Amino acid sequence: MALGWRDLRSLLARSVLGQDCVLCAAPSGERLLCAACAADLPQIAAACPQCAGPSPRGAVCGACMTHPPAFDATIALWRYEFPVDRLVLALKFGGRLALAEAFGTALADQVAGRRVDALVPMPLGPARLVERGFNQALEIARHTARATGFAVAPELVRRVRDTAPQTDLPHDARAANVRGAFECGLGVAGRSLAVVDDVMTTGASLEELARTLKRAGADRIENWVVARTWPRT
Ligand SMILES: [Zn+2]
Ligand SMILES: [Zn+2]
Repeated sequence: MALGWRDLRSLLARSVLGQDCVLCAAPSGERLLCAACAADLPQIAAACPQCAGPSPRGAVCGACMTHPPAFDATIALWRYEFPVDRLVLALKFGGRLALAEAFGTALADQVAGRRVDALVPMPLGPARLVERGFNQALEIARHTARATGFAVAPELVRRVRDTAPQTDLPHDARAANVRGAFECGLGVAGRSLAVVDDVMTTGASLEELARTLKRAGADRIENWVVARTWPRT
C-alpha cells in the first residue's frame, strides 16, 4: 500500500469527523489507528538501551561503548519509516494535533514502570515556534504526562538560538550546528529527567541537550522519542 501525502491528508481530515483509521480508513472507534494498522507499525525489536539503535541482543552498542553519550537511556517507539514518517509529518507540518495524543499515550504505555522527576520537551527555537505555532514535542509530552502522572517542565530548558534544520545538514555537521543551542533554567540539579521528542535522527540535538542538563547538575537523562531513524540493512 503506497499512500501519497495527499491521500493521507484526506484520510486525516475524514478521521476528525468519522473516526476512521488514518491509514486504512477502516472504522477505528475512538482511536486514530485501527488495531491492525497499529500492530503493523515498524516496531523496534532489539535495541541498545542507551541510544535505542540496533543491538542484536539488546546490549549497550559499540558506538555507546566507544563514545558514551551524555544521556543514560533512550526509549523509542517505532523506526522512522513508513507510515510513521507520514504520521510525524502530518503532526508537525499538517498541524494534526490529534496525533500528538496518539503518540503521547503510546509513549506512556512504553515507559510504564520507569521513574523520572519530570518530562522536558525538546524546545523549539523562537523563530521556528512562531512559524509552526506549536511545539510538537511539548504537545506529545503533555499527553505522556497526563497518562503517566509525571509533570511536564518545559521551563527547565530553552533554545537560545535558532539553528539550521538538522535535516538540511550532513550528519557530521549536526553536532556543531546545535552546540550551545540550549540553556537551562533553575531546578535541574539533582533531578532525573526524560527529554521528549518526536524523532531521533543522529541524536545530535538530544546529546547536546543532555550535555547541557548534566552540566547544570541533572542526575540522569532519558530520551523518550516517538521514532528513531534506523539504518537500512
Ligand atoms: Zn487501519
Ligand atoms: Zn547505543
